[in-house]
Amino acid sequence: MLHTLPREDNYLQKGLRKQLVQILRDKGIRDEAVLAAIERVPRHFFLDPAFERQAYEDRAFPIVAGQTISQPYTVAYQTQLLDIKKYDKVLEIGTGSAYQACVLAEMGITLYTIERQRALYDHVGKFVLIKKYLNIKRFFGDGFLGLPSYAPFDKIIITCGAPFVPPKLLEQLKPGGIMVIPVGDDGRQKMLRITKDKDGNVKEEEMGDFLFVPMLQGKEGR
Ligand code: SAH
Repeated sequence: MLHTLPREDNYLQKGLRKQLVQILRDKGIRDEAVLAAIERVPRHFFLDPAFERQAYEDRAFPIVAGQTISQPYTVAYQTQLLDIKKYDKVLEIGTGSAYQACVLAEMGITLYTIERQRALYDHVGKFVLIKKYLNIKRFFGDGFLGLPSYAPFDKIIITCGAPFVPPKLLEQLKPGGIMVIPVGDDGRQKMLRITKDKDGNVKEEEMGDFLFVPMLQGKEGR
């Protein structure tokens, strides 16, 4: 459950976050800007107070509506693959708890993020922390369609397991842009990094196996 009331972020949580950053370094995350962003975002605000300590373990957690807050390693790894530059315009599919969104927002970009579940979209809107990030623009909609009126994007990140690379998202990626997307069936996905060169040619690299909740067609709720 996301927290809708202000909560404390004191030396205890800051210390736990430093330890988490060390765990991520040990697991091979090298992008200092990504690590610094993770060190700044109070992940315990995204979980029930009863799970405050577990918030800084490197694991995924259930949130509302049968969804999960991604594992910190996965968030760090996907963000590192995006090769974020200041002022990038980034599209995220699958807002979920908005933890990944806040990590990206800490990196000085503008983030457009889409969630297909109305209950989750509304829930995040009541979350105090999200109001602090004026560079996060949230949308309720179907991520398969992207956001044509805001395209093109420098970077696109998909945080649910996609059955295939959605053609509309590929269209909305700028020449010179990067898309990071887990592709596969329900059981397991391959992380793909897709780069589009200046001439619009697309290259795909496989970056290992991951497990995400599925990317589903259409919206849920009104
Ligand atoms: N980035 C999130 C991860 C949440 S889990 C975080 O940091 O917490 C993935 C989310 O993707 C779920 O909330 C799910 O509802 C959403 N999702 C699945 N299919 C989608 C689609 N077609 N469009 C938008 N969001 C989608």
